Amino acid sequence: MKKFPRVVLLQGKDRSVRLFHPWLFSGAISKVEGNPEEGEIVEVFSKDGEYLATGHFHDGSIKVRIFSFEQTDANQDFWNSKFLNAFQFRQTLGITNDGKTNTYRLIHGEGDNLPGLIIDIYDSAAVIQFHTYGMYRMKELITNALKNIPGLKLEVIYNKSSETINSKKFPDAKNEFLLGDLEEKIILENDIRFHVNWVEGQKTGYFIDQRENRLLLEKYSKGKNVLNTFSYSGGFSMYALHGGAVNVHSVDSSKKASELANLNAQLNGYQDKHVFYQEDVFDFLKKSNDKYDIVILDPPAFAKHLSSVKNAMVGYRNLNVEGIDKVAKGGLLFTFSCSQVIDKLLFRKLIFQAAAQTKRNIRIMHQLTQAPDHPVNIYHPEGEYLKGLVLMVE
Ligand code: SAH
Repeated sequence: MKKFPRVVLLQGKDRSVRLFHPWLFSGAISKVEGNPEEGEIVEVFSKDGEYLATGHFHDGSIKVRIFSFEQTDANQDFWNSKFLNAFQFRQTLGITNDGKTNTYRLIHGEGDNLPGLIIDIYDSAAVIQFHTYGMYRMKELITNALKNIPGLKLEVIYNKSSETINSKKFPDAKNEFLLGDLEEKIILENDIRFHVNWVEGQKTGYFIDQRENRLLLEKYSKGKNVLNTFSYSGGFSMYALHGGAVNVHSVDSSKKASELANLNAQLNGYQDKHVFYQEDVFDFLKKSNDKYDIVILDPPAFAKHLSSVKNAMVGYRNLNVEGIDKVAKGGLLFTFSCSQVIDKLLFRKLIFQAAAQTKRNIRIMHQLTQAPDHPVNIYHPEGEYLKGLVLMVE
């Protein structure tokens, strides 16, 4: 076994590691031996010298992000087996080769026991987002592990990490092709075609986590007028049209989103039933007097840290008051929050408060979460970041 620098815990501070939580906070640490660099692999030991875990060492309140609870050299075989396990999980879900969908999340950070790593698959392209410098240091092993997955034939691997890794601190963490040089592709999701550009698009290019929720919307869309706010490239909009919606309005302030959503409408032959408004959603909702049969609210995370929760709560409440107001009697509201720091109960409470303000009769029809290729590690409940409610509004 390789020898790694050691992190030794304080007496009585080993409970969370023993319960397989992947984050080790600075307050649990008694001493660090071997002077690890930022992002270097370390081993975690109890006060009595018992091995507990292996992870990446970082500056900040989370000192170690754990990727193994069994002693390991973290060599190529280790990464190959982790990636094979993640691929087999998606095979079990039936999304790796089902003829209707060729887009899915292959690695979902803590959900796949790999904190700091996100990999999305767009047919034969893989887009990697390193969220920690520790994972970034594994770039070569990770690229090889991707190429080594039997049954996954990749033509492109793109590293898109300049936004997710502090580029001032780590200037080497730039966006780059690690295989091939293709920048975009037309992908398939539940038989609907989407233009995805991982170089210019948001995040890895597309929001895969809403796949199942879009499918639910499709089911309710026949003959309906639909308003899709924070639409990005029109994910929910195209599903509504695929389900037979007569008219869909998409609203997003981004110019690139406008280009992509219009392109996607054309690609699927829906351009006559789709209108894109490049506008601030709050302005749009205030201005418009129209009512819709279905309204979708899928805003970006209003709170990224605990410190901004209070402001975010006001934001979600106001948005939902406006959103409910746009729903015709007997219509539906699909409302979401992807802020990790706003948990399911708090989200529900905010929607309750918004509902009470409108005084309308409102019932919960569905309680939604992220698609299962974004699994939640049971030892890391913080991983359940996407919350959604479908409400019947009368
Ligand atoms: N619903 C989308 C994903 C939404 S991501 C999907 O299914 O793919 C959030 C989107 O909100 C981004 O596209 C961003 O450009 C947009 N956005 C953020 N703030 C906005 C605002 N105030 N008004 C309009 N759009 C906004």
